[in-house]
Amino acid sequence: MTVFVKCGFYFFFRDELANFLNKLETHHFVSKTALQKICKEMLAFAEKVHNSCVTTLVNQLEVMDLPDNQCQILRAALAENPFEELQQDFRSYYLLDKHIKISPAFKFVEPTEIRLGTGTGKKCSFQYVSIVDTLCVIVTDPGFKSEKRSEDGMLRGVRDGSAYSENTFFKENKDAFAIEMYSDAVELSISLGASKGKHKIVNVYFSLAELPKGINSKTENKFLVLSVKDSHLKIYRQEIYKPLLEDLKKLEAGVAVNGHSVKAGLLCHLGDNLESHIISGIKQSFSGGYVCRQCHIQHGDLPQIR
Ligand SMILES: [Zn+2]
Repeated sequence: MTVFVKCGFYFFFRDELANFLNKLETHHFVSKTALQKICKEMLAFAEKVHNSCVTTLVNQLEVMDLPDNQCQILRAALAENPFEELQQDFRSYYLLDKHIKISPAFKFVEPTEIRLGTGTGKKCSFQYVSIVDTLCVIVTDPGFKSEKRSEDGMLRGVRDGSAYSENTFFKENKDAFAIEMYSDAVELSISLGASKGKHKIVNVYFSLAELPKGINSKTENKFLVLSVKDSHLKIYRQEIYKPLLEDLKKLEAGVAVNGHSVKAGLLCHLGDNLESHIISGIKQSFSGGYVCRQCHIQHGDLPQIR
């Protein structure tokens, strides 16, 4: 009995606290140092509150006329202070991070570092987060509910359009999930002149068209698949997209999740003009010549457009 009370109490607070700190870091970009400080202060405060409550309860026990064995059990249970242990377990950011990675409560999908050659003179690598693993985590989440398509012919989502309904794969696999992929390059530092593009990173994300719109519109539900330096992408384009393409093929064929076969197909790739041109391997300059993907308009004609 005593052991049960201690374990439940401790594990509950440990995961709740780790979840809170993780949200602070990922949603509100709180720094590691600040996280450590918040964690330390919160636990010290909680420990004091817990001790004060326990002292009051123990004083009450003395007044109450309870049998000795019951009194002992209660005292033993109250003697455990989960916050004391938590202070030890989360004494550094490293330990907190480690807990989030290994705790089943978080379902962390570990990124893999994939090494490339030495084309730029230095060792090149990129990070890949398995789209199969992430998709399995999403669809097995107890809160996951697939949104239905419109039945009244209204366009409410990407799956109500013709690109989805005329797609051969989705016609043949009605239960398959539709993957929307998105990529864009970000400059990690404010660089000028010659340094421009030095710290440019291309991130590829995906989300599921089946997610309800309220959930799908939040950035936390755009899942990272690839993170690669722009300069490496220019040299190792094939190698970098290879693991992603292989995983997409696996998803099209179906992967086993809890005894069921789950299928998913790529519905679209979203990106700005430059990113879309990079992905499709076409012209990347828009300052001259043909500047539109839909028509043959020339750059010089742009001022005449009304
Ligand atoms: Zn046009």
